Amino acid sequence: MATDDEFQTAKTRLETLGQKALTKEERARRRRALDTIGVPSFESYLETRGGKALIREPTTILQVNIGLYCNQACAHCHVESSPLRTTEVMDAATAQAVVRVLKNSSNVKTLDLTGGAPELHEQFRFLVREARALGVDVIDRCNLTVLYEEGQEDLPQFLAENKVKVVASLPCYSEANTDAQRGKGVFERSIAALRDLNAVGYGVEGSGLELDLMYNPGGAFLPPAQENLEVAYRSELRDTWGVEFSRLFTLTNMPIKRFADYLHREGKTSEYMSLLVENFNVAASVGVMCRDLISVSWDGTLYDCDFNQQLDMPVRDEKKTIFDLDSCDDLVGSRIVADNHCFGCTAGSGSSCSGATI
Ligand code: SF4
Ligand code: SF4
Repeated sequence: MATDDEFQTAKTRLETLGQKALTKEERARRRRALDTIGVPSFESYLETRGGKALIREPTTILQVNIGLYCNQACAHCHVESSPLRTTEVMDAATAQAVVRVLKNSSNVKTLDLTGGAPELHEQFRFLVREARALGVDVIDRCNLTVLYEEGQEDLPQFLAENKVKVVASLPCYSEANTDAQRGKGVFERSIAALRDLNAVGYGVEGSGLELDLMYNPGGAFLPPAQENLEVAYRSELRDTWGVEFSRLFTLTNMPIKRFADYLHREGKTSEYMSLLVENFNVAASVGVMCRDLISVSWDGTLYDCDFNQQLDMPVRDEKKTIFDLDSCDDLVGSRIVADNHCFGCTAGSGSSCSGATI
């Protein structure tokens, strides 16, 4: 758990970011405002551009958001996590239901654990061990600084022993840019954490331990080409900090939650939505993650993706929670819930939890 100091820092930071001022009604009003700035319907736009309809295919990734508690409070967090979110936490019964469904879902190859900071949640290690025992790959979406939270001293060893794939957020290789987005001192601790992960084999060629980094833009612009940015990251991190990693993923900022608030404050909502629509790429739409991923929230509700989860837009299917499912294949063929934020997944080279989609 965060110390009193960290808690106060996050609180102040959230006040600066304006989160406290937003009521549910204000948020709803902002969402409705998006409808009046001329953003076309995503589904119609996809159809007129000859895109493949958004229909669920066999699920290969089960993504579980095990709770919103996080030791950080990043400016662009699309789930609005922070040390203040202490009550939205997955319980044991829900975690057991996830494992039951996983056992019945032979097409699912990956359990993707996210949050908040997933490692700080009670069910994290249970889910990792159960999934690995079933031969399912596990992804830990790690914010790096979590390694230095109380009780996490053995985290690198635990992850390595279970061959968990680590996907770590590092929005820039510059200290100033990273700290501006994620909080003061985050870059320094992130570099230390990357070194500690390297020390147990993560990101080291031939170790079989994958350490991927996740970049997202520091403002209202699209990410640069993933391949080129990976070269720059590798050279900066290796030469300056002696850090190794496996791959770099680029992620587009979605116009939802904290980033939507930022756009609103800066008066850039319309400009950013136009940027996403103008850069719509039908090839990128083929690989959107909702086609073969199910997202489960801390309370067991099912969504087509983590973004829909944060917008409270559950699946269309009559089976609405993990408790209703026998297998992930129960949802095959159902129509995916889409809205104007979906343009964030199809702009430029596309964007998903595994980076660019083309
Ligand atoms: S570390 Fe991740 S989950 Fe936590 S506040 Fe930052 S972006 Fe959100
Ligand atoms: S936001 Fe979600 S539902 Fe929309 S295209 Fe992206 S992954 Fe699919």
